[in-house]
Amino acid sequence: MTERYDILVIGGGSGGLAHAQRAAEYGAKAAVIEYGPLGGTCVNVGCVPKKVMWYAAHQAHAFHHSADYGFDVTVGGHDWPGLKARRDAYIERLNGIYERNLDNRGVTYIAGRARFVDAHTVDVDGTSYEADRIVIATGGRPMVPDIPGAELGITSDGFFELEERPQRVLIAGSGYIAVELAGVFNALGSEVQVVVRKDHILRSFDAMLSSELMDAMDKSGIDLDTGVIPASVEQTADGIVLHAEDGRTFGPVDAIVWAIGRSPNTESLDAGKAGVEQDKYGFIPTDKFQQTNVENIYALGDVTGRDALTPVAIAAGRRLADRLDGGMEGRHLDYKLIPTVIFSHPTIGTIGLTEDEARATYGNDIKTYQSGFVGMYYALGTNKKRSVMKLITAGDDEKVVGCHVIGEGADEMMQGFAVAMRMGATKKDFDDTVAIHPTSSEELVTMR
Ligand code: FAD
Ligand code: NDP
Repeated sequence: MTERYDILVIGGGSGGLAHAQRAAEYGAKAAVIEYGPLGGTCVNVGCVPKKVMWYAAHQAHAFHHSADYGFDVTVGGHDWPGLKARRDAYIERLNGIYERNLDNRGVTYIAGRARFVDAHTVDVDGTSYEADRIVIATGGRPMVPDIPGAELGITSDGFFELEERPQRVLIAGSGYIAVELAGVFNALGSEVQVVVRKDHILRSFDAMLSSELMDAMDKSGIDLDTGVIPASVEQTADGIVLHAEDGRTFGPVDAIVWAIGRSPNTESLDAGKAGVEQDKYGFIPTDKFQQTNVENIYALGDVTGRDALTPVAIAAGRRLADRLDGGMEGRHLDYKLIPTVIFSHPTIGTIGLTEDEARATYGNDIKTYQSGFVGMYYALGTNKKRSVMKLITAGDDEKVVGCHVIGEGADEMMQGFAVAMRMGATKKDFDDTVAIHPTSSEELVTMR
């Protein structure tokens, strides 16, 4: 027998859960299909356990500065297995909360792997389900390079499984995950080497952020090598060694972490049976309403290949339900001006155009403002860390089109500035806003 729903959501991660729950609040009969733990990447092997590890690193940094504030603190060591056990228990609690949330909203939870049968039918481990609307929210998984010995390395998924902290770590990659994990390992006491294949990290971000973070990583003892294209990996008696295409070798280390991007979870979905088109990487393109090329099938979150961030997946899922189930005609996610934070050490908060993008868009009709300083937190000690902030404006009215911050507190700073920029704030609006003192963020409203 085939069970019928108004909506079948494939994937119980950030986007899928958000859509199903919002739709159910409007009265739709919805089901979520998930083969892993509820919560998806963010809750289980992404943002949440990562932020716990970031807090651990943050705590380690605080110990280093405690003498500046008069404390006589001796740190006896760090209990990685204990931290992991508490982190895992927290995630397990969250999994339970997510299941209860579905139950409370009347959303059916189907545990298993979904495959398309046709545009209205999905098979889950031998049982058929039909729906008017099917939403693909299957997320992605870490990529591993196609080179000999790559399996000797781990990915971010493997990072969260580590029972002990490896003492010598090599991270290959140059994006969010590479710099975030490098910061965690470094703060907790590992020797960290980062290898990037081009000439700098975070290439899609403003060049100021990239160069400031490279400098900060260098000062914190992280060894960063550029122009390294991994060719093979070898297990030696002393540890794991990475061979680069140009003949250089890196290591031996105790762990290699691949942080080179993510692929969509579409291989086993049989989306072709429903006529759903995919791009050459397997991502599922949609229009601005999250609709695929098939009328009743939608896709959202990481599987669409756009801004792979949890709040983006959630916002897309909720807006889709608002439009289709809540009567909010035309409602959709605007993918412009998405703020984001990189939980590096120090943190980065950024929104809008980079200087290069602004120049490409507005030519010479842009102005930049930049301020670099040592935050007051470091005033009493010798280990001083820089903050740098940059505003990019365009046009005669100096509309703020880019805002980029690296430094203490950047993570908590950016949300409010994102609201201002969405409202079209100009440099004058920033200037007319009274500063909050003493903070780092006040620099953003006092730049000349
Ligand atoms: P997912 O959360 O990946 O959910 C997809 C779900 O679909 C998975 O649970 C999967 O098991 C399930 N699934 C797949 N195929 C099937 C199938 N055939 N049948 C049934 N179920 C299926 N974003 C931030 O905003 N902030 C951060 O700090 C942050 N940190 C991150 C750190 C790391 C290490 C990683 C890897 C990611 C991080 N992200 C962060 C990104 C964020 O996790 C993702 O953007 C977000 O989880 C995407 O949500 P989603 O719903 O599209 O997919
Ligand atoms: P990213 O896309 O951020 O960075 C990966 C980078 O690795 C690429 O940009 C590329 O940079 C480099 N690379 C690609 N292929 C290779 C290769 N074969 N060998 C060496 N280097 C390679 O991916 P991540 O895996 O770091 O993260 C995935 C996504 O998850 C992020 O884009 C982000 O959307 C999300 N995320 C968000 C976080 C947050 O919000 N704080 C935290 C973590 C993840 P180049 O071309 O310069 O070599």
